[in-house]
Amino acid sequence: MPDKPSTFRGNKSTLPSKPCTVCGRPMTWRRRWAKTWEDVKYCSDACRRAKGAA
Ligand SMILES: [Zn+2]
Repeated sequence: MPDKPSTFRGNKSTLPSKPCTVCGRPMTWRRRWAKTWEDVKYCSDACRRAKGAA
């Protein structure tokens, strides 16, 4: 019966995330996206291609 902490302080796992515009799966921030996070729309090249094909 662990006490669920209601305070949220300095958790290092608070990386931003957003859903892939194609498959909807949540994408968690990655270092490689550090400079392009705003523009990242697809979780993978497959989704990027799927979007382009559709
Ligand atoms: Zn995707």
